[in-house]
Amino acid sequence: MVSIKIFHLYPDHLNLYGDRGNMIALCRRAQWHNIDIEVIPVKPGEKIDFSHCDLLFMGGGQDSDQQMVAEDLKKRSSELSSAVENGMVVFAVCGSYQLLGSYYITGKGEKIGGLELVNLYTEAGTERLIGNAVINCPLWNPAKTLAGFENHAGKTYLGQGLQPLGQVMIGYGNNGTDKTEGAVYKNVIGTYLHGSLLPKNPWLTDLLLEKALVYRDQDFVPANLDDSLEHKAHNAFIELAGSKKHKRLSTKV
Ligand code: GLN
Repeated sequence: MVSIKIFHLYPDHLNLYGDRGNMIALCRRAQWHNIDIEVIPVKPGEKIDFSHCDLLFMGGGQDSDQQMVAEDLKKRSSELSSAVENGMVVFAVCGSYQLLGSYYITGKGEKIGGLELVNLYTEAGTERLIGNAVINCPLWNPAKTLAGFENHAGKTYLGQGLQPLGQVMIGYGNNGTDKTEGAVYKNVIGTYLHGSLLPKNPWLTDLLLEKALVYRDQDFVPANLDDSLEHKAHNAFIELAGSKKHKRLSTKV
């Protein structure tokens, strides 16, 4: 039986807007696809060896948590960087996504140093960007939609050559202006989309599982699953995101 080890980074500190649901979706779909899954929750300060990690999941966090997390992560940055360069799969949401880059300047003007794993930086704007978002994602051919909830003050800008996760169809995305959302570097996927994101975008869940298996030279043999409920959730979310009834907020920080 094929197997995957998932490291869940700081689950008590990085869990906003249902991010923990991403872990549930990963575990459940892995089970359905006959993949043996082991989840290792990682606490701040705990000794860990990223060479044993196939898939690293990091949820979103408030600015205050981000500062603590960044300090702890900084101590692990060279180990993390070699794992990423080797092809470890990383799925990072919002606050964690920001920390993958070189820095995040908060609304109070504090500079939180990032991990410099991915060529991007983030600066808080004067408004929070809040609402349901839909993007067109070219990780598949033809491209597929991804739908999730965003709530961030940070505006992220991608460095040259860095691919966004997708193009914004509805919502704000990385910065509310350039229509990009998220970033993809090697097997690292960063995004502003919470939600939980994975339960209603099962193709992304499966892609993460597949990438983690391939990283360890294992084959992904997908089971023939009935995803009608997941599709229903995805489509209902898109309908809501596009409807006039959906309140899109851009509130002062
Ligand atoms: N603190 C960050 C911001 O507001 C991230 C928030 C989050 O993870 N939702 O930009």
